[in-house]
Amino acid sequence: MFNLAVILRESAKAAPGKAAIRHDGGAMTYAELDALSDSVAEGLTALGIRPGDAVGLQLPNIPEFVVSYFGILKAGAVVVPLNPLLKAREVAYCLGNSRARALITWAPVAAEAVKGATEEGITDVFAVGSAGPAAPFIDLFRPATDRRPIAPRDGSDTAAIVFTSGTTGVPKGAELTHVQLYMNADIPGRLFDVRADDVVLTILPMFHVFGLSSILNVSVRFGCTLSLVPRFDAGAALEAVERDRVSIFEGVPTMFVAVLEHPGLDRYDTSSLRVAISGGAAIPAHVLDAFEHRFGVVILEGYGLTETASTTTFNISAGERRAYSVGKPIWGTETQIWDDRGNRLPPGREHVGELVTRGFHVMKGYHGQPQATAEAMAGGWLHTGDLGYVDEDGFFFIIDRKKELIIRGGYNVYPREVEEILYNHPAVAEAAVVGVPDARLGEEVAAYVSLKPGEPATTAELIAYCKDRLAAYKYPRYVEIRDALPKTANGKIAKLELARR
Ligand code: AMP
Repeated sequence: MFNLAVILRESAKAAPGKAAIRHDGGAMTYAELDALSDSVAEGLTALGIRPGDAVGLQLPNIPEFVVSYFGILKAGAVVVPLNPLLKAREVAYCLGNSRARALITWAPVAAEAVKGATEEGITDVFAVGSAGPAAPFIDLFRPATDRRPIAPRDGSDTAAIVFTSGTTGVPKGAELTHVQLYMNADIPGRLFDVRADDVVLTILPMFHVFGLSSILNVSVRFGCTLSLVPRFDAGAALEAVERDRVSIFEGVPTMFVAVLEHPGLDRYDTSSLRVAISGGAAIPAHVLDAFEHRFGVVILEGYGLTETASTTTFNISAGERRAYSVGKPIWGTETQIWDDRGNRLPPGREHVGELVTRGFHVMKGYHGQPQATAEAMAGGWLHTGDLGYVDEDGFFFIIDRKKELIIRGGYNVYPREVEEILYNHPAVAEAAVVGVPDARLGEEVAAYVSLKPGEPATTAELIAYCKDRLAAYKYPRYVEIRDALPKTANGKIAKLELARR
């Protein structure tokens, strides 16, 4: 019997008066978080929510997210995190697919959320903030006895259903279990030596698996403090670093770029930073070097997916990091490189294939989608859809996503290789390379870039820059300069959106 919520109960017992959360100059202690989430668990139980029922959680990075998350878990229910920007139709799809019974949402988006919930016949909708069409969040609270018992669950029961970014087709809800999420907080936490006095910057949304598993769960498991930034913005992130004395900076590469390019960067005291962690997408070598140099910290790169509750491979701190690699499989798990016929490939840069992985870190399956689950987990291994290789020392390198590979006139072009060149250009802040349809060649290489403030460059100049440094079939014939590149909810560059235009 095991419930992930014990990570909070244990930290609250060990250090009740310690700040679990800092936000906007305020703080919430571990004892307060434990008690408030008990009241939410009591309220959900009073509504008729039973262990195994699902509850939607649609909030930005505010304290109520954390209170509700642990409240739902303590009631034995399944958390279904949702992006507050979802439209009614999308809310309905996710709630319907996960068979949710109630929804906790956010006042500014409550109208859409209620519409979506209603489509699925869900009437118990609570909103944080002035509620409008939903019931006020506070109505969910019921007095709970001191340290209300946590509903027992089996470790293999589902704790959360997290919808994947949905880059292709319909979103799929990955079922993550109590033990899987616990182990994914515990092991990566040990890998980079998390300490109870660490303050973890929370700029990644907690409704996405990276924020949920690698930030929220890790921080609570090790009794650290979460410094909450409701929505990513480089200035707000830097303010939080200074105000809360943040020691761990975790983000996707675009966040590292935005912080580095922030015009007021030198005004902030960032001396508390101790570790930086990048994941979610490949961090360009140039950005990694510039960030490390500017902040005097080492960036540990990790790699993972929603399906693996975040971390799959990781660069360990203790002198074992290999820059530009995503590291080695986390303890107790296996990752290999396979060719298209399912044969394991030997180490070496020339042996590029698909990363496959198995172990406790892999999801139970996609909720209600046995066909998609069978395809993703064929042969007992999770097929990641990512291309890479492993070196002689066991370090993994990601080349690109299988589906983002560009085939131009029969030749393979890996977008990441072209992006790395563009990032080296002194005027380029962000770059994304995608394949666009071409009548003669099948696909043509197209690049989208944004420029650093005050650093002019023309498209002709950027094309020439790539042409000088890449084989003729690889350089982009088409470059478009934009003010900013579109981002996914998690802050990654939304390449599919660019490719579709
Ligand atoms: P998501 O399920 O939204 O977390 O997206 C998972 C995908 O992000 C993976 O399949 C990879 O394509 C990509 N990804 C995550 N971490 C890295 C990394 N360190 N380097 C390159 N790609 C990454």
